[in-house]
Amino acid sequence: MILRIICLLGLCAISASLHAERLSDLSSPLPQSYVADRIGLLAADSKRELDRLASALDDAGLGQVTVVVINSTEGVDHRQFATDLFNRWGVGDAQRNDGTLILLAHQDRAAEIVLGSGIDSPQNRNHTDAIMDQVMLPQFRRNNPDLAVINGVTALLKRVYALDLSRPTEQFAAVPATPPETAAQQVSTPAARAPAAPALQSSEDEPTAWGFLMIVYVVGAALVCALLYLCWLILKGIWQVLTWFGRGGTTLWWFTGSRWYVRRCPNCAAAMELLSDEADDAHLSPGELVEERLKSVDHRVYRCPACERVEKLARRTWFSRYQSCDQCGTRALSSQSHTLKSATEYSTGLLRIDTQCGHCGMQQSEERALARISRHRSSSGSGRSFGGGSSSGGGSSGRW
Ligand SMILES: [Zn+2]
Ligand SMILES: [Zn+2]
Repeated sequence: MILRIICLLGLCAISASLHAERLSDLSSPLPQSYVADRIGLLAADSKRELDRLASALDDAGLGQVTVVVINSTEGVDHRQFATDLFNRWGVGDAQRNDGTLILLAHQDRAAEIVLGSGIDSPQNRNHTDAIMDQVMLPQFRRNNPDLAVINGVTALLKRVYALDLSRPTEQFAAVPATPPETAAQQVSTPAARAPAAPALQSSEDEPTAWGFLMIVYVVGAALVCALLYLCWLILKGIWQVLTWFGRGGTTLWWFTGSRWYVRRCPNCAAAMELLSDEADDAHLSPGELVEERLKSVDHRVYRCPACERVEKLARRTWFSRYQSCDQCGTRALSSQSHTLKSATEYSTGLLRIDTQCGHCGMQQSEERALARISRHRSSSGSGRSFGGGSSSGGGSSGRW
């Protein structure tokens, strides 16, 4: 019998701890949402409406509001729990400390409004007392947590943050006391009627919109890929035709300089012969030999077998990393860049460009500033986070 009681007590303890929340288990709901509903108590429409209100406040730069729903704090003082969570997440701006956290411990029948230390004035405490006692607790007692939280946040925005986003009160006045199952459906109507909001939408709430976006992205990416592949095929074809006319790697422009083109001697009209790469070196200047070695210019030498006349032909390679040297005119100038200091979000960087001629040995160094990296802050959704605000625990508590 005693053993049974012990087992029963143990089971009770286990089941209680399963419903309870530890502070360290609660991760910040942002950037997805301002609502952390750990037990799925609130309807999806209610969460959307709360996100609409909270993101409007955040976008206006007036403050941050977050709503946390758990079953139980497992004996931990609710005020302390909510304040610790507030400071752990850092709700509100770090300088202005203008955040508010609303905690609902459903099983404990407890609610807390915690104000950031920047807005924790006697006047605002009066406001949150009134919101808790007159707006939230009556709805909690009627077992309507959705309306309690939505009306509470709406009133909080209006009185503490002077941001009036309330909708006609008749919509809520007509809602009777209802069990929680139907309460969710009751709320869905006014929330759905709310004006199109820049609210955060989680993927589970809006599967069709995201699905459509995904399809658009995938089809778009496939089209771009197909187009790029087509361009590549066309370029490859052109290249093949051009190289077929010339020698390996040369193009149609070079046809007149190729071995297939019969060059006539201007003196005696005899067919000139193209000297091989080894044989033509004797006729090239030192600078031309460097260009030949670097493959920046292709030099060809023709010799007339009858009158020994020599003609030189220079073809600049299309794609070469070498530039012409200002000093000696040889196309043997190469440059290398070294990043001396990387650019950051806050400061410019420095780049050194070393230029060197492979023929005359001319050297130059130049330093260039690198632009600061611009910070991308998206206006909605992904960029949201709590600002690092703190609270010393001011606000209001409610039990029902
Ligand atoms: Zn000749
Ligand atoms: Zn040079």
